[in-house]
Amino acid sequence: MPATKDGRFGFNLLVGGFFSPKRCAEAVPLDAWVPGEDVVPVCKAILEAYRDLGSRGNRQKTRMMWLIDELGIEVFLSEVEKRMPGKYLERSSEEELVQKQWERRDYMGVHPQKQQGLSFVGLHVPVGRVQASDMHELARLADEYGSSELRLTVEQNIVIPNVDSSRVGALLEEALLKGRLSPEPSVLMRGLVACTGSQFCGQAIIETKARALKVTEEVERRVAFPEGRRGARMHWTGCPNTCGQVQVADVGFMGCMTRDAEGKVCEGADVYVGGRVGSDSHLGELYKKGVPCKDLVPLVADILVKHFGAVPREREDEDEDDEEEEHGIGAK
Ligand code: SF4
Repeated sequence: MPATKDGRFGFNLLVGGFFSPKRCAEAVPLDAWVPGEDVVPVCKAILEAYRDLGSRGNRQKTRMMWLIDELGIEVFLSEVEKRMPGKYLERSSEEELVQKQWERRDYMGVHPQKQQGLSFVGLHVPVGRVQASDMHELARLADEYGSSELRLTVEQNIVIPNVDSSRVGALLEEALLKGRLSPEPSVLMRGLVACTGSQFCGQAIIETKARALKVTEEVERRVAFPEGRRGARMHWTGCPNTCGQVQVADVGFMGCMTRDAEGKVCEGADVYVGGRVGSDSHLGELYKKGVPCKDLVPLVADILVKHFGAVPREREDEDEDDEEEEHGIGAK
């Protein structure tokens, strides 16, 4: 995490965070700080400590956190220090630069860059799926409007950086941005992530991408978010390997087989709620186990209303009517 020390810019270190089918853990503080220029040496030292001392046999235990559990964090720190060029690491800094209340910034749409006259444009890729023709077109757009560069985001979206601000209007008129890859997706679509799922992944228990889109579209028909509310980040993962990282989502869906109301076996999801990312990060917890996929829409709509400030569509319409009446709009 970025932090200054004696006026120098650097980072406090966290280690060992991981997801796996058996166990998920948040990274823990190493009680060490490095100046910015030591990031590469310290990453190398941490990886070498893990390479030299970690378990290579049992696949269930080939994660750094198991080694930290075994050695204790102080011994792990001393092993990292031994592998640093100066054989030493400074203790962590109190002067953290990321505030706890920090809100994730939205990168969708057009944003000015620090560099005068340049903008970046964030595009939404529905559940992260692009076709070859989309990629060719994106490459053309990056060549024509930007610096031949595309940036991929952890939410499976794409950013075109370094667009001359005077050409942003023309870029927004391009067919790809008017169609499949919108810079202004709906509030729930912009936070939707899905792993590969059963269409292409042999480990999958359920289909994820098409289902994530369908459930989200249906939920959007039932609930809306008041102006200015950020909505909810929803992640889908087709099996407990959690490549879609349901534990960091506001609402997460982990594929499983379950039984429906008639007792028939069907595709379902364990539903997680409450994951957070950033300096105030927190792993989401299991909210409801084994929900048949066909029953997810009302449950999700209910979660969004109860926990994320969404409003049922009928009520939203009523509120609008009240407002119109209050202002004499539409009055006979
Ligand atoms: S979470 Fe499971 S289904 Fe999804 S991509 Fe990973 S291994 Fe495949």
